[in-house]
Amino acid sequence: MNKLIISLITASFLFLSGCTGKTGNVNYNNNPEPLVSNAYIKLPLGSIKPEGWLLSQLEAQAAGLTGNVDDFWPDLVSSSWRGGTGEAWERGPYFLDGLVPLAYLLDDDRLKEKVKNWIEPIIASSSDSGWYGPEKNKDRWPLSVANKVLMQYYEAASDQRALEVLKKYFRYLHDNPPDWPDMDWRGVRAMENAVTGYWLFRQTGEQWILKTIASIQNNCFDWTDYYEKFPWDSAALADKRIPTARQSGGLTAHVVNNGMAIKYPGLWYQQSGNERYRNAVLAGIQKYDKIHGQAGGRFSGDEHLSGKSPDHGTELCSVVEYMFSLEELYAIFGDNSLADRLESLTFNALPGTTTPDMWAHQYDQQSNQVLVSVHKRSWSSNGDYSNIYGLMPNFGCCLANMHQGWPKFTSSLWMATNDNGLVAVAYSPSTVKAQVDNGTEVSIREVTDYPFKGDVKLEINTAKAVRFPLYLRVPGWADEVIFNYKGKTKTAIAGETVKLEEKWADGDQVTFSLQMDIRFEKRYNNSVSVLRGPLYYSLRIDKEFNSIKLNYDNYGYKGSIDWEIKPESAWNYGLMIDNANPGRGFEVAENPVTRYPFADKGDMVWSSDSAKYVKWDQEAAVVITTRGITIPGWTLKDNSSDIPPRSPVKATGTPKIIKLIPYGSARLRITEFPAIDLTRVVDVMRPGN
Ligand SMILES: [Zn+2]
Repeated sequence: MNKLIISLITASFLFLSGCTGKTGNVNYNNNPEPLVSNAYIKLPLGSIKPEGWLLSQLEAQAAGLTGNVDDFWPDLVSSSWRGGTGEAWERGPYFLDGLVPLAYLLDDDRLKEKVKNWIEPIIASSSDSGWYGPEKNKDRWPLSVANKVLMQYYEAASDQRALEVLKKYFRYLHDNPPDWPDMDWRGVRAMENAVTGYWLFRQTGEQWILKTIASIQNNCFDWTDYYEKFPWDSAALADKRIPTARQSGGLTAHVVNNGMAIKYPGLWYQQSGNERYRNAVLAGIQKYDKIHGQAGGRFSGDEHLSGKSPDHGTELCSVVEYMFSLEELYAIFGDNSLADRLESLTFNALPGTTTPDMWAHQYDQQSNQVLVSVHKRSWSSNGDYSNIYGLMPNFGCCLANMHQGWPKFTSSLWMATNDNGLVAVAYSPSTVKAQVDNGTEVSIREVTDYPFKGDVKLEINTAKAVRFPLYLRVPGWADEVIFNYKGKTKTAIAGETVKLEEKWADGDQVTFSLQMDIRFEKRYNNSVSVLRGPLYYSLRIDKEFNSIKLNYDNYGYKGSIDWEIKPESAWNYGLMIDNANPGRGFEVAENPVTRYPFADKGDMVWSSDSAKYVKWDQEAAVVITTRGITIPGWTLKDNSSDIPPRSPVKATGTPKIIKLIPYGSARLRITEFPAIDLTRVVDVMRPGN
């Protein structure tokens, strides 16, 4: 945790010293006055295209649920948002919030045709009053999601009608009384409208939009006060006072609301300019970590905040919402700790809670997840189906909302800077095409297998040589990084953003290597997690997949299967870690990252190597071999792995060779390990001894 705090402070100083004195980007709109200028500017949808494993991932998503679910799930098939007579609330807009960016990032005609079939009825529904969407919906909440859909669609398709629908709706909000009750979703989530509101202001400069946003901020639940006081603290957890009922404040302990709301003080910072709101965001994230923090950058909530114990779950909706919040917050504050967390969620929590083919997802994921089954567990309020990988476990919100995760991450890999350059926010194989300097278009191809490997090569393509600054983020976990470019080198340290300002010519390259040493993180009950780069590594457990007839036959669509997964090998291992020489006894094997050419399903980059029966369960991209000792007293409790016994644990068994694979590749896993007391077994640490 200390390292995190240091990186927060370092990044804040960098922000203050690195981005002042500029008048703003001439190619992309930053905030006009009277708003505070943001650190960076998000690029329009379509500027960044996935490559390498990330392309495979998005293709898998297109071949999986995102590209198909609206053909067979009744809530989407007959959605009132697309002109049907069915579901008229959040599910249509949730789905489109992921489908629209996916369709345009892949430039996929089939998906774009789907988008058209949804968007045309939505545009046609815009009424004289400014209200839009299904006639039978009277609730403002789903429109705050639909706003984000229209915003992205406008950026990618340049369809002026989408902008007009949004302007009319914000005029509706301006002209009608506030309606943001604390006891309702539209009230606790009211500031979601501000995402689109500020974007609209950047497009139009019309001041009345800011009055509308101020009215929302001043008449909805006060999340800034919430983060300052943080009522759902350790004492509330110990006393079992964290509410699940709406009337007693349950909506403020609701995990998805928390994942969304962490950006709300930051959004308002743009208009208030008051440091109080930046501080509330950073304090809120620290409190989530301290009280409810889980491996992979997330916090627990099953489905209300539920502490740090690794048997507790996190709902998928909250993972993708937290990711989106971090993408927005990074543009506003430019704080590198936010990008570190975005990578952690994207590369761990997101893939860990779906199957590699994106045909099934969980409602709740666990760090120590040793049995995936329909059983009662010690969730705060969720049902018995919550941790199976399926079509619609527990409730349908995640099936509608999960689609935004990978596409929006891809769209946020690069942002524009106020001095007409570009900044690498997060790393993944991709190409960004954007305007720099005075409107010169360049493209930068990022060749990398990150986060599995640390080497990154940037190739610059430009019709004419052009001077612009290229900013590159150094992750908070990295040691000193040396950047090589144009025969020069520049060195930077963890948490910094390095600035390379050159006259860049076609074919210029920047290369660097983010050295991925094994690291350890102390977790619940003194347990230990293993990290390498941004990835958490979990115990590889042999497993048996059983398809259960929960949802997959209900809709007559054979692509969808509900899976229970049972362990077929021991999971109750403690880890042998030599604190004097932490890397000792851990051997890393890097495999080729994209090599599963299933033409119909894309490459399965988040596969693991331990199951029979399912074709997407291949060898993991990185495998770490080490040794552990089983702890006989550590068993199941309430159908989950019991909390890890307090470390260090005295173990008498024989050390065994075990394998660790990325959290995102492990559908069964131990991620928070007891640490073995090594005083008696230190001489057998190295595999092969
Ligand atoms: Zn959900």
